[in-house]
Amino acid sequence: MIRPRELSSSLQLFAARTPTLPPATHTNSYALGGRDLVLVEPATPFEDEQRAWIDWARGLVSQGRKLVAILATHHHEDHVGGLEVLARELGAPVWAHDLTVERLSPKTRALVERRLLDGESLVLEGPRDESWRVLHTPGHAPGHVCLFEERSRTVVVGDMVASVGTILIAPGDGDMQVYLEQLERLAALDARLALPAHGEPIDEPSVLFRKYIAHRLAREAKVLEAVRNAGAAGGDAAALVPDAYADTPVHLWPIARLSLEAHLEKLEREGHVTRAGGAGGTGEDDGPTRAATFRVV
Ligand SMILES: [Zn+2]
Repeated sequence: MIRPRELSSSLQLFAARTPTLPPATHTNSYALGGRDLVLVEPATPFEDEQRAWIDWARGLVSQGRKLVAILATHHHEDHVGGLEVLARELGAPVWAHDLTVERLSPKTRALVERRLLDGESLVLEGPRDESWRVLHTPGHAPGHVCLFEERSRTVVVGDMVASVGTILIAPGDGDMQVYLEQLERLAALDARLALPAHGEPIDEPSVLFRKYIAHRLAREAKVLEAVRNAGAAGGDAAALVPDAYADTPVHLWPIARLSLEAHLEKLEREGHVTRAGGAGGTGEDDGPTRAATFRVV
């Protein structure tokens, strides 16, 4: 693999090996700016990869760039696994959204100097000034941010979409309804280029954003159908997966189950299904280990 890859005179891609969700094996970092420099995704926890990453950053600085910050799109381990080491070694401040910062380890949190806000602009001075607008895009992770550069119509999308592997929306960090809303928002940008954390850069990404939305809604219809098929007795998540994900290889069902639960949360909130039992359920004495069952309304 050739690293770094120069996408333009003010944009580089550096893919580092990370413990991420297969089939993806790497997380992309991006160097933004022709002089003022922001490095996105201090991702790799592996020492050899961290050394290569630091060499890359130092190489840019030795060419006259000025490292102003290291920025994390969200708190997942395959995005911040190198944050502490890389920021310390390079003496760089860390920028992230509040909801990301509060999910970092205390040691890492201490390195954060700027809390990113939705709508604010990160101005990078250089031969051609760049202004990257912060978009707070929760759904995959609560503090997830994207960055949009108006002039080049380029958007850094983190884990909102990927060109390798899938984006997991899991209960807890994830919110399917919010995720779909934020994908709509990204599609409306009409960007020319999207820079994902996993896989190749994406030309004309609005097509892909809309494809993701359609794909998720199609899956949601299958989840609702599976609940309907479970009848009056209802079904728990484990029982619904084989029906809702019949088209998905069995070895992916454990992951699929998390997505299914995120779909069920959305369907429940929208009043299409009801939940009985499980945590936060009816309060009947059926024990905390018993899974919730779902029925159509
Ligand atoms: Zn993630």
